[in-house]
Amino acid sequence: NGDEQQNQDYLFKIVMIGDSAVGKSNLLARFARNEFYPNSKSTIGVEFQTQKMQIDGKEIKAQIWDTAGRERFKAVTSAYYRGAVGALVVYDICRRQTFDSIGRWLNELHTHSDMNVVIILVGNKMDLKEAREVGTAEGKALAEARGLFFIETSALDSSNVAAAFQTVVKEIYHILS
Ligand code: GDP
Ligand code: MG
Repeated sequence: NGDEQQNQDYLFKIVMIGDSAVGKSNLLARFARNEFYPNSKSTIGVEFQTQKMQIDGKEIKAQIWDTAGRERFKAVTSAYYRGAVGALVVYDICRRQTFDSIGRWLNELHTHSDMNVVIILVGNKMDLKEAREVGTAEGKALAEARGLFFIETSALDSSNVAAAFQTVVKEIYHILS
């Protein structure tokens, strides 16, 4: 069976959502280009970035979409979500308000995409230890209650950034194969 699947192509659309300035664009920049923007005004970046990944020896293309700042104007449209099979729902561990928004983002995601979309809850900026407002256990508990994967990341120092994307891609691949 390995042989006949060798040339199969996988293209997974994955969306990034969450409040403004939680670090969505920088997580994508870190993952796809190993770049970080210390003073980005939360509008940097491209519409989407395609990243090749290997899972079980298969080449998978993850097409990762960034809101490109539209969340500030409540202008993330249904087209953004259409066809998504994975999502990173991001909050800033130093701003509780962004954690309190997660429920709304999940509702929006479920309204506009397939119920089986693979979701990881991402607590970003874990490098800012002194300013933390949301505990790791709280993030984990919310993820468990909502049936999501969970990880804390830092786009600044790269902690767990690749793991966050890989977790989603691996799970999608295992569901589809
Ligand atoms: P977005 O609006 O969700 O796309 O957020 P951005 O990626 O534009 O990031 C907003 C601000 O937070 C920028 O000034 C980034 O430099 C900063 N930032 C993003 N990720 C991290 C992180 O992991 N750690 C720290 N310390 N700052 C971050
Ligand atoms: Mg952004």
